[in-house]
Amino acid sequence: VYIVRSAPVEFEAGEGSRERYFILSFRDISEVRRIDRMRSDFVANASHELRTPLASLRGFIETIQGPAKNDLKAQAQFLNIMFDQTTRMSRLVDDLLSLSRLELKSHIAPDEKIDLVPLLGHVRDSLVPLARDVGVDINLHLPDGKVEVLGDRDELVQVFENLMENACKYGQEGEVVDVWLKNGAGHPVEVSIVDKGPGIPAEHVPRLTERFYRVSIEDSRSKKGTGLGLAIVKHILTRHRARLIVKSEVGKGTDFTVRF
Ligand code: ADP
Repeated sequence: VYIVRSAPVEFEAGEGSRERYFILSFRDISEVRRIDRMRSDFVANASHELRTPLASLRGFIETIQGPAKNDLKAQAQFLNIMFDQTTRMSRLVDDLLSLSRLELKSHIAPDEKIDLVPLLGHVRDSLVPLARDVGVDINLHLPDGKVEVLGDRDELVQVFENLMENACKYGQEGEVVDVWLKNGAGHPVEVSIVDKGPGIPAEHVPRLTERFYRVSIEDSRSKKGTGLGLAIVKHILTRHRARLIVKSEVGKGTDFTVRF
């Protein structure tokens, strides 16, 4: 997309004659347009995600006020669903706020020295209840001694929580999630989160970190996903000058590696 401006100019060409020209200037605004479109898509998606649970809450409130006014059993059942819907909206708002906070400080690199060994242990421990619920064991494979990177502790916790939680939820049928921390001499520090689940078809892999992108919306909803987890991971890693490498094979499992 270009904005084109043209302006006539005239020169004296000697002996009383004049020559006429046009100056054309081309400004490429494709990138500006693309960013505008992304922004408005994002607002539309976020509103849609909030509108669905809101509409369902409204429906249940009307039913409780009307047809189910005296039906205590139905009311108890509806209240449970309403509770789930409000929890879903809170999760979504929390994720949206995380993203906007991260965008504000994306240009400032974090500078705290963080030892990944205890950090990964802490994240694994915090996920034990969820892993137990879905029947998955999380195995940590850590080297001896410290493995330090420059980072922001809370943000790195968020990255590994998201990746380990996804591996447990989406890789549930593999029943085991392996987390490897590698720090060989002359190699970058890497953390790999590997599941033996159903894997991700190749065409989806490049888009996983887009906001609200999900391989299956139903699957993500039933697993209490917001579709923003990997977008948050990507933002945090960009700020940490780290990369996310995704390798997945359908029927075998998925490997999310963070390379510092
Ligand atoms: P969600 O809140 O839906 O989990 P994420 O951004 O964390 O959102 O993940 C985006 C999508 O990537 C998920 O909906 C799921 O389809 C897919 N995904 C993420 N991790 C895995 C995994 N380990 N195995 C298979 N699919 C995965």
